[in-house]
Amino acid sequence: MSSLQPVRGTHDLLPDDARRHRRVEEAALAAARRYGFGEIMTPIFEFTEVFSRTLGETSDVVTKEMYTFADRSGESITLRPEGTAGVARAFISGGLAQSLPLKLFYRGPMFRHERPQKGRLRQFHQVGVELLGVESPLADVEVIALAWGLLNDLGLADKVRLEINTLGDAESRAAYRNTLTAYLSEFRSSLSEDSRARLDRNPLRVLDSKDEGDRRIVENAPLMTESLTPSAREFFDAVTAGLTRLDIPYTHNTRLVRGLDYYCHTAFEFTTTALGAQGTVLAGGRYDELIAQMGGPRTPGIGWAAGVERLSMLAGDVADQTRPVAVIPMGDPLAAMAVAERLRRAGLAADLGYSGNMKKRMARANKVNARFAVILGEDEAARGAATLRDLDGGTQDEIPLAALEDHLRRLL
Ligand code: ATP
Ligand code: MG
Repeated sequence: MSSLQPVRGTHDLLPDDARRHRRVEEAALAAARRYGFGEIMTPIFEFTEVFSRTLGETSDVVTKEMYTFADRSGESITLRPEGTAGVARAFISGGLAQSLPLKLFYRGPMFRHERPQKGRLRQFHQVGVELLGVESPLADVEVIALAWGLLNDLGLADKVRLEINTLGDAESRAAYRNTLTAYLSEFRSSLSEDSRARLDRNPLRVLDSKDEGDRRIVENAPLMTESLTPSAREFFDAVTAGLTRLDIPYTHNTRLVRGLDYYCHTAFEFTTTALGAQGTVLAGGRYDELIAQMGGPRTPGIGWAAGVERLSMLAGDVADQTRPVAVIPMGDPLAAMAVAERLRRAGLAADLGYSGNMKKRMARANKVNARFAVILGEDEAARGAATLRDLDGGTQDEIPLAALEDHLRRLL
């Protein structure tokens, strides 16, 4: 029965995977807090227009990837493919314009109907931040510094590189649009069908095409940097000067554009060569017109999102920090459970095997990576005591049961 398989592109996270996954999320939340960001939780589904009107009608996400359905009242609903549009919607519907600047962190599942591959799923998870209400390039520097801080905390500084570009302001983009349209029109018949459609509706999107033929044409296209207005150039220079001042290494990639429509000025990605084709681990940019486009008060914004699966693959494993105490009954199993319960109520992690001889139980203590074993032999029990064995050092002592929690707490 196919319905007993997980849906293609979705995964169960078993405890080891879930631990790696949570570690990335917790690191991201901790880093965000250091920079003054608070967590926001928005629904995982929204009215379809929240995404279709903001991400861009010609974007891959909107044209091919959204999980859209009519709910029982006939409303068109979409499972969120990304986090920014929902946060912007919450900003508007919650009337948050009074509390600017606003620094928000989010995490959770996202949904895109893509071709599943390593690092490319249909339900995946992101952590992300949005900084709303700050026009200054200092905001761009600050959110990039936060991203860099997180990647450092995860031990990834040597595995990623920051690429940054500018998409300019509206005037720069209008000028560039003309230059680019003129160039691409010469190759119209060689472009992919998708890109021919994009050429008429949103030529910048062609720069983001994944089609091989398109990429060859795009390689020689004129650069955005050549169409920048002086003030857009000044803005970009301020961002890169800030990064230099904070010792954050970057490369100016003049070909970098982002896949969603709402970006302006700063666009950036942290990429790696260690994950094959799925090399972007964290990406973001500035979106000064997004909230106005959605019908809210014009509010500048900048943010990024990172793929938790990609980050956790890259960061690899870390041992579970909490090592339990193994409680090993030799006689009455309920007496052992009572001891384990006392340790647990005292805030210690205790592991209790359900059956087996001493040898089996010691093997289990090893498997759960226990630091100590509490062995409840009949003789000690009669004296109201237990044997405490140090599983790393191999030494053991008899400890009165009444003093067990305090003793262990001192040792752990
Ligand atoms: P890509 O170029 O890999 O398709 P994207 O530009 O669509 O990425 P964004 O929308 O910027 O990605 O999302 C930010 C991050 O979320 C990506 O850098 C990536 O780490 C992660 N991500 C995006 N789509 C997926 C997916 N289908 N599966 C797993 N992670 C994803
Ligand atoms: Mg994509």
